Amino acid sequence: MRIVFLGAPGSGKGTQAQKLVADFGVVQISTGDLLRAAVASGSELGQRAKAAMDAGALVSDDIVLGMIRERLQEPDTQAGFILDGFPRNLSQAASLDKVLGEIARPLDAVCLLDVDFDILMKRLTGRRTCSVTGKLLNVYFSPQSELDACQAAGGQLVQRADDNEQTIGKRLTVYREQTEPLVGFYRDAGLLREVAGDGAMADVYARLKSALGV
Ligand code: AMP
Repeated sequence: MRIVFLGAPGSGKGTQAQKLVADFGVVQISTGDLLRAAVASGSELGQRAKAAMDAGALVSDDIVLGMIRERLQEPDTQAGFILDGFPRNLSQAASLDKVLGEIARPLDAVCLLDVDFDILMKRLTGRRTCSVTGKLLNVYFSPQSELDACQAAGGQLVQRADDNEQTIGKRLTVYREQTEPLVGFYRDAGLLREVAGDGAMADVYARLKSALGV
């Protein structure tokens, strides 16, 4: 399974990718997670990426491509991979084609998670991560018992630095202007699978698996 997850911020790419990882033993490669780790480590690359991330803009293609190239060379990707948050513009998509062509491992499919704007806003402004368990939660949608369980474990509900309303607005604009053209690009390539991303996580997952034929 070699797939790309396409979808606006908050469309559930990370959550659905984690489910495929658990069920199919593939790896999730999230450029957002790789970049946040680089920022947290204080590396030079992280320092270069931080300003763009804080502003909700895209980090430069050369930084992101370098990370992806390196990650795809690791042996755990042999079982398959899900690219989550990459590519984000047409130039990254062309580079990805080239990199995968060089290693003779082309994409099987590109899944587009489609979600209404109002729901995206609630998912993003309500999104939290438990500081102890790492579990992804949402103050609007998660059952109270799950939110309480994080606190009972001594954890705190941490909000991502770029999940504030101003940055969210910018990230959604960037998605519309730079990432959405990839829908046509992958449709023309015959790879696009559209999945309705509204509703319960388990229902979305069932639709996703059916779209992938797994
Ligand atoms: P995400 O976790 O995918 O929402 O990404 C968080 C932030 O990381 C984005 O708003 C961008 O600043 C940056 N980022 C993640 N993936 C990419 C990418 N493929 N190209 C450029 N910037 C990215």
